[in-house]
Amino acid sequence: MRLKGNLPFMKEINRRLILDTIRRKGSLSRADLAKETQLNPSTVTRITAELINEGFIREVGYADSQGGRKPILLNLVADAVHIIGINVETTEVIGVVSNLIGEVLYKITCPIKDTSKDGILQVITQTIQQLLDAANNDGRSIVGIGLAMHGLVDCDNGIALYPPAFGWKNLAIVSLLEEKFRIPVQLENNARAMALGEWWFGAGKDLSNFIAVKVGHGIGSGIFLNGEIFRGINFVAGELGHTTLLVDGPLCDCGNYGCLEALASTKALVKRAQRSLKEGVESQILTLAGSPEQVEPEHIFKAADNQDPLAIQLLQDMGRYLGIALANLVNLLNPTKIILGGDILPGLEHILPILQTTVHSRAMEIPAHKLIIEPIKLGVNAVSIGAVSLILEEFFSTKRPNLKKDLSIWKEKQT
Ligand SMILES: [Zn+2]
Repeated sequence: MRLKGNLPFMKEINRRLILDTIRRKGSLSRADLAKETQLNPSTVTRITAELINEGFIREVGYADSQGGRKPILLNLVADAVHIIGINVETTEVIGVVSNLIGEVLYKITCPIKDTSKDGILQVITQTIQQLLDAANNDGRSIVGIGLAMHGLVDCDNGIALYPPAFGWKNLAIVSLLEEKFRIPVQLENNARAMALGEWWFGAGKDLSNFIAVKVGHGIGSGIFLNGEIFRGINFVAGELGHTTLLVDGPLCDCGNYGCLEALASTKALVKRAQRSLKEGVESQILTLAGSPEQVEPEHIFKAADNQDPLAIQLLQDMGRYLGIALANLVNLLNPTKIILGGDILPGLEHILPILQTTVHSRAMEIPAHKLIIEPIKLGVNAVSIGAVSLILEEFFSTKRPNLKKDLSIWKEKQT
């Protein structure tokens, strides 16, 4: 390690350590901070003075005295700066402006009509511009843009490698957006972004080992191992949807047969409902949709709420397939928790019981015994907040600070 003597690097680590400790612990005195961070009290005094000066923390009153002067408490300024989070789904782009504690201040949704590279770039650009205008009108400064896309992404070089629903390859989206908006941009896959958002503010908070599974038009997962998101050497880790479940199963969009995604995505769910309806099976799904061609996942969830036998059967099949895939994950990675999100959330009450039974009957007893399987906590905003947390990682993480994106430099950009 060449850390010794690298003063700007050490200073940046210490700043982040202090800022992150205040974020996690809430109100703290300088003495508490020195104890928590094991930094020298004079270092704490100097860095907290800098952070107060820059507007990231503030003094918020006094703690009880243990004899002598009452210590002053310090707190994070949640609205010191703001962040844009963009979630590029297959049919729409959802954008939010959030503060440092994950509160959504503005949210807009823009439909995707043209899925070409230019079309997608245009909707993303419009969404960001609208959010920037709203933030600027209120005098809020945006210091970063997190972008979550489906499919394969190169996080380091900011390239959307292959979003299957759009069909094209290799869009250098980060450099295009950074050139246009002059704001740092971070790119991540949408399921991994969801996992990260849930780790910061949701069902994965404070967990070191958990898996977030996003089930919608496709199926992906974010794997959190030993306190960090696991990306693999080509950023492909977590492509649960393309693991084989049935050797001679249906053809998947990826070209393989019997992938989980071809059996248990909402796209597969709709296909199976359509097939049954065309075969003449009676179901409320048809009444709700109007015709087999117009079936949407929501019609199936609604019919299941009304105890429709076909809808319940379809969702139970989905739960069984997902349960088998998750049992494999449990045996492989032994997580504390698996959290489920994506478009299946409204139908989850019909899917979860059989999914849980399947996991417990198929996974090994020890890893399955204490495993918790539950829905995500951030609901429809999970991926957008996940995108926001890509920038929060830059702000607070002491593991991989990127000196090019130093906090004070970001702040200067805005003034
Ligand atoms: Zn596949």
